[in-house]
Amino acid sequence: MDDSLGFYEVSTKEKAYFAVRLIVSVVLYALIIAVIGAMVTEGADGERAKATFLIPAALFFFLLYILRNGLFIGLIKSFSVKLGEKQLPEVYKIVSDCSYRLGIKRTPNVYLLQAGGSLNAFSKKFFNSNYVVIYSDLLEAYYQGDKDAVEFVIAHELGHIKRNHFIKELFLAPSAVVPFLAAAYYRGCELTCDNIGKFFNPKGALSGLLMLAGGKVIYRELNLEAYINQEKTDASFWRWLVEKFLSHPNLYKRLLNVYDPTMVSKFKVSASSKPYKYDTSEVLEKIVDADKADYSRYMPK
Ligand SMILES: [Zn+2]
Repeated sequence: MDDSLGFYEVSTKEKAYFAVRLIVSVVLYALIIAVIGAMVTEGADGERAKATFLIPAALFFFLLYILRNGLFIGLIKSFSVKLGEKQLPEVYKIVSDCSYRLGIKRTPNVYLLQAGGSLNAFSKKFFNSNYVVIYSDLLEAYYQGDKDAVEFVIAHELGHIKRNHFIKELFLAPSAVVPFLAAAYYRGCELTCDNIGKFFNPKGALSGLLMLAGGKVIYRELNLEAYINQEKTDASFWRWLVEKFLSHPNLYKRLLNVYDPTMVSKFKVSASSKPYKYDTSEVLEKIVDADKADYSRYMPK
């Protein structure tokens, strides 16, 4: 369990890769300072001039970073609907309640973005403000009765803010020189945020991830056990390799993580011997019975 809050579990992968990235970054910062220091104090005139050029160069890249992120926030504000007490208040309330319970001091700015059918959400930090952007297809699922799944996704996004992932990333940037390290860390962060989402809505953790896998209507038809078994039945070198480049673990790994944190390692052990089985009937029943929503709007007219 998390040391300070004690109610959600921080992924061991996030902890381990954070430690490695921190060490690499600190070493690189020290190295950069030492090299610049040596250029200024011991270098010839030409080297000293190069060292002084590094300050405006660093400033230039910082300004580029501000510009890129500022424009992105500007785009969100231009093309999204801002949620609040007078705009989809029930969804805004989920965000403000989860924020309060997570100890996030100010409720983030929440936006609804029409994203052409994508089922997703993301969060972002810019200076002192936090943003949560929810894609409209996900909110359609909410208004069709899939409240648990959407609550899980919202809490997951707030998890990134709670864990200060955006600020940490800035400081850890130098460690990106180590291939695959940053992506491995991001995947650990995703598992932690799934745990945070699960804390707020355990049922939504399963239905939410299944929804991301199969879509907001078809997910109800999916066999959870068979899907999770893909971790073993679909294992291949290429799937292993591609994961090294990705910021998110595959969805069946994420499902295993929220179902039981020890399942991933147990699964690996059992994979070579006999088919993996565990009883999911109760969980499946809960998902299927979660809501009897009206799906007629998705039917061909
Ligand atoms: Zn995430």
